Amino acid sequence: MAGGARESFDVAVVGGGPAGMMAAIFAAERGARVVLLERLDDLGRKLRATGGGRCNLTNTRDRDAFLEAFGEKRRFVRPAIAAFDGAALRAFLAGRGVPTESSDGVHVFPSSGSAHSVADALAALLGERGVEIRTHVSVVRIEVADGRARGVAAAAGAWSARAVVLAAGGKSYPGLGGTDAGYELAAALGHGLVPPVPALAGIALGEAWAGECAGIVLPDVEIGIAEPGGTRRRGELLFTHRGISGPAALDLSGDVAAALLLRGAVPLAVDLAPGTSREAWVRRCEEWRRTAGRKRVRTMLGAAMPHALAERVASAAGLARDAACAHITRESRERLAGAIAALPLTAVGTEGFEKAMATRGGVALCDVDARTLSSRVVRGLFFAGEVLDVDGPCGGWNLQWAFASGRLAGVSAARWVASGGSFAYDGGGGS
Ligand SMILES: Cc1cc2nc3c(=O)[nH]c(=O)nc-3n(C[C@H](O)[C@H](O)[C@H](O)COP(=O)(O)OP(=O)(O)OC[C@H]3O[C@@H](n4cnc5c(N)ncnc54)[C@H](O)[C@@H]3O)c2cc1C
Repeated sequence: MAGGARESFDVAVVGGGPAGMMAAIFAAERGARVVLLERLDDLGRKLRATGGGRCNLTNTRDRDAFLEAFGEKRRFVRPAIAAFDGAALRAFLAGRGVPTESSDGVHVFPSSGSAHSVADALAALLGERGVEIRTHVSVVRIEVADGRARGVAAAAGAWSARAVVLAAGGKSYPGLGGTDAGYELAAALGHGLVPPVPALAGIALGEAWAGECAGIVLPDVEIGIAEPGGTRRRGELLFTHRGISGPAALDLSGDVAAALLLRGAVPLAVDLAPGTSREAWVRRCEEWRRTAGRKRVRTMLGAAMPHALAERVASAAGLARDAACAHITRESRERLAGAIAALPLTAVGTEGFEKAMATRGGVALCDVDARTLSSRVVRGLFFAGEVLDVDGPCGGWNLQWAFASGRLAGVSAARWVASGGSFAYDGGGGS
């Protein structure tokens, strides 16, 4: 629609990602007349690129373990996930001809091996439910009168609606549609914003030697911020030309980015062998001294880790390049064990929003009712997906949140419309 008469709907959904599509589908299923507005020329552009094009849409963790991964946000996330968990998502997709599977028993992908099958199924369902889709529409304002959402406006036109769902995503990966437009729309109405930082991004290191280790993959390490109470993450770590990546580093990167807002460098420590205690390493060094005295320490270490890294561990322990096992003193054994259990690294940056797979921060959760995802500031306004200050680790948490929160926001918006704008604010809640 350009200029002309103003179209009128029950629900206007801003953003055609997984959260917005789900919101539109479930609002329409409950009888609402829905318009879905997307600024790009297609729906689900980011969704189609997820999981390397395979779409790791959820995982098989049980409810508690799934929620636990959201840390202090788990209470907020709970109602949406409780109403639509991984099993429900898989059943929903299977019912739409998109069976899913988990070859490693944890990560869930569509059996087709293609994210397109998920996005196409949602797009088909939008059509079947009669959702009106408007692409190339960048919403610039949510219209409010008497404290209630009344519609949305864009350069291309304006749409009246009795409820609005804001599902405009986060800032991450602008190449796939990431933008801060959603934050601006929410902030303009008085919602608090937690400053967005990149999450699930590679971490740049200050250590020049890290680049020499590029390509090294450590299947199981524990990495953390080396400060009291600092977050720790366990999993695979990959050295890159600029620093570190892989699930453990990606999962830590949001905390690192938040800490980097306050200072230029953040100390990290990597436990290179989380299954082995410091004492065990001290004993192992002692054994090397007795049984392999003429061999270099680096050579012996090289049996436990890639050689380039063994060199760095030995240097971090202050050992000379050609130090032989026979000559390692008690103190150097302790230092070596310390370097293996807590190899020091210095985070000086992340890959930034350009490469981040998620955004930490966004619309402040204190301004949103977790039971309905309705705004506490503007009645009839609902939120879903990454635009909210919710982010999970790698492994299907973020898409599951997008799907489940989209569904809850859509259901709530339809209920709001059907109730004539009166539910939930008296404690009715629920989905
Ligand atoms: C490369 C990559 C791989 C990923 N892989 C995975 C994975 O395997 N598993 C997983 O769980 N998560 C993954 N994620 C994260 C996941 O893609 C996001 O969590 C998810 O897409 C968020 O959904 P959303 O609907 O909230 O936002 P988005 O998918 O970002 O959708 C928001 C939409 O709103 C539109 N929009 C924004 N502003 C406006 C406006 N003003 N008017 C109209 N439209 C607007 C945008 O163009 C966009 O299409 C990955 C992310 C990236 C970048």
